[in-house]
Amino acid sequence: MHNHHMELPKYIVIGEALEETVAHRVRFNGFRRCLMVTSKTPLKVFGEKILSALDGDISCEVCFVDEVVENFDRYVSGARSFDVVLGVGGGRVADVSKPLAEYSGKQFFSIPTVASHDGIASPMSSYRHNGLAYSRKSVMPSEVFADMNVISLAPRRYVLSGCGDLVAKQSAVRDWWLAHRVKGEYYGRYAAHLAYLSATVVMKSAQLVGEGTREGTRTVVEALISAGISMGVAGSSRPCSGSEHLIAHALEGMMERPALHGERVGVASVFTTYLHRADWKKIAASLRTMGACHTLSHIGVDEDLFAEAVMKAPSLRKERYTILHHKPLTKQHIMEILHETELV
Ligand SMILES: [Zn+2]
Repeated sequence: MHNHHMELPKYIVIGEALEETVAHRVRFNGFRRCLMVTSKTPLKVFGEKILSALDGDISCEVCFVDEVVENFDRYVSGARSFDVVLGVGGGRVADVSKPLAEYSGKQFFSIPTVASHDGIASPMSSYRHNGLAYSRKSVMPSEVFADMNVISLAPRRYVLSGCGDLVAKQSAVRDWWLAHRVKGEYYGRYAAHLAYLSATVVMKSAQLVGEGTREGTRTVVEALISAGISMGVAGSSRPCSGSEHLIAHALEGMMERPALHGERVGVASVFTTYLHRADWKKIAASLRTMGACHTLSHIGVDEDLFAEAVMKAPSLRKERYTILHHKPLTKQHIMEILHETELV
């Protein structure tokens, strides 16, 4: 029997005006020097408040995510003299802060300013190489601070993108189960159910999300955190990322200005859930009710490009067996499905 490792955050708070809580937790952990990775808007909306709360006994150096990407090795060696990496921002900040903390052997505090993706409380980090998007397991945030005042300030598009990333779990979990049945891949029932639940909960709250209520946004944040935890339990992104993510990644590599990650993933999951002969109508209806992207035109893609992405997707990750590897599709078949599912 192999050893199964689970890495989970030790402290998660979802609330309001959390800058003092962040500062308290920094002190509680005995940290003296913080390195904040952020970008312009997140620094203004939340980073500066955290800096004032830390002021006095704790030093905090601020660096912008683009600088870190460009000089990654230098930042890794520099980060060794800090006690903790604070990632204040969106998906890109989280994607870069995790490996920075990992390679420098420091803890990572996840401080999201948008609810657009499930990396808030997950160990996964996405990166681009030769125009293609990949993801790998990095470190799980040791602490997570989701400030609803900050997250509610962000343009609506972001939280709706988070919804797209969430409904996709219904397709991702089916791909995982398929890989288990056909290829004998490890399947973690608990992690799978947890990821699936995060999709179900947000779909049930579609109306609240659509009305733009605080309760709706909070449900999305909680579901994104719980999806992230399911990856920590599984030890991989398997419960949260299947064929729909492969299509979304293929599209990203083919477009100059791709839509947000969750926007592409949500639309692709209607298509892949159809392939699984599951209830794709429910996913499409939920996205519509929320006001999230639910057609190809919403994500700026035409049917030829989408078909190309579907055909390319299986080659992006050959080891990640999904419905696209199981049932290769012809262009004509893809077109028929796009019309049947009203994606075009
Ligand atoms: Zn995702």
